[in-house]
Amino acid sequence: MGKDRIFAEPFRIKVVEPIKMSTQQERWGNMKDAGYNTFLLKSKDVYIDLLTDSGTSAMSDNQWSGIMIGDEAYAGSENWFALEDAVRDIYGFKYITPTHQGRGAENILSTIMINPGDYVPGNMYFTTTRFHQEKNGATFVDIIIDQAHNSEAEDPFKGNVDLQKLRDLIDRVGAEKIPYVSLAVTVNMAGGQPVSMKNMREVKELCTQHKIPVMYDATRCVENAYFIQQREAGYAAKSVREILKEMFSYADGCTMSGKKDCLVNIGGFLAMNSEELYQKATELVVVYEGMPSYGGMAGRDMEAMARGIYEMVDDAYIKYRISQVQYLGQKLIEAGIPIVRPVGGHAVFLDARRFLEHIPQEQFPAQALAAAIYADGGVRTMERGIVSAGRDKNTGENHQPKLELVRVTIPRRVYTLSHMDVVAECIKNVYTNRQKIKGLKFVYEAPQLRFFTARFKPIVPWEEWEGTV
Ligand SMILES: *Cc1c(COP(=O)(O)O)cnc(C)c1O
Repeated sequence: MGKDRIFAEPFRIKVVEPIKMSTQQERWGNMKDAGYNTFLLKSKDVYIDLLTDSGTSAMSDNQWSGIMIGDEAYAGSENWFALEDAVRDIYGFKYITPTHQGRGAENILSTIMINPGDYVPGNMYFTTTRFHQEKNGATFVDIIIDQAHNSEAEDPFKGNVDLQKLRDLIDRVGAEKIPYVSLAVTVNMAGGQPVSMKNMREVKELCTQHKIPVMYDATRCVENAYFIQQREAGYAAKSVREILKEMFSYADGCTMSGKKDCLVNIGGFLAMNSEELYQKATELVVVYEGMPSYGGMAGRDMEAMARGIYEMVDDAYIKYRISQVQYLGQKLIEAGIPIVRPVGGHAVFLDARRFLEHIPQEQFPAQALAAAIYADGGVRTMERGIVSAGRDKNTGENHQPKLELVRVTIPRRVYTLSHMDVVAECIKNVYTNRQKIKGLKFVYEAPQLRFFTARFKPIVPWEEWEGTV
């Protein structure tokens, strides 16, 4: 974004999807019906949907035309070869196993690499990633730098690994107990924070000394590459595509959710350089996903993803993408709203601890804040705090993450800057009325990934207020 010039979307709109504003009264009722859980709202009742950037991207005319040339053969589809070529070209890995989405790849990777009793170090956890690691008998160990857990620390690469933490783990349990290092680029749970190229290089060097593979969670790798271009010395003149290639040169493989950076609504893959690992992945993909030449995707889905992979590395696109998120973040900062700094790649994260200082963490402040934002303006966001963190698998106690956040996630190419203005206005109105929001308690809690389906009710009734739309 030029310093003093207005920027706008680098596309024009060819197809529109109407969205409907509801009334205040309807929204307060909908929220109660949904048990104060934004995951349980109906999409038709949402005005601006910032629940997630997962599978919510708008496809281009080029991708839609790819949909029409889907080759729906059971085996050896043309679209599979297009996808395989695109992944090899842009990511640089030798072998690719398609999956229905990112967690399909995580399931296969964790099953083939982890033995019970292993330790998997990672730069902060992600819900489904950690679930699959633990399901296969591993203990997850957080090796992210300490600043990542502090929402106010202004570090340009808050996703970085603390190498000393990794060395300590290797000393403590031995390299043979570490099947791989799981490195997320960017780190979703830390607020969409990037990892520097220098850190990726150092992690790889340390792991090579100990013969430990490094597997990336590459879900938002292009956003990470853009931050490297903008913030790391020596990369300003390089294209995002070149930066990505270098990033992956420090990895032995990756899992990918195509629903994020690849600009499609469904799809994913597991990629690696080891032929032996690929053989094992192939044995499992047929059990869980489908043939190794479609992995749970239709031919047309694979074509859309192959085309999305080239569009995601367009420098004008990715600059717009990140600038839109920064635009919303800047508006909130100017209004004095507590958010995670610096603003990340795919979302603005509200700091619910500081936003709702009167609600203790055991009363789910971030859950309550997300519910309030919906009731105020029909804007759907999600909790990323104590509810998402779940319970300790051994003690049954709630994990108590330092970060208690509400994620305001921007889908790719879907909303305009005017929508961002509406969202900022809504959050400001909730901030003004924050004392009226009270803590929540569980009515229903699932044993796993509880945040998707949990239901709550207020400990004391809320005082309702006039919303923004
Ligand atoms: C979304 C996501 C996943 C899981 O991918 P799905 O496609 O939703 O299964 C894994 N890691 C990160 C960082 C994600 O954001």
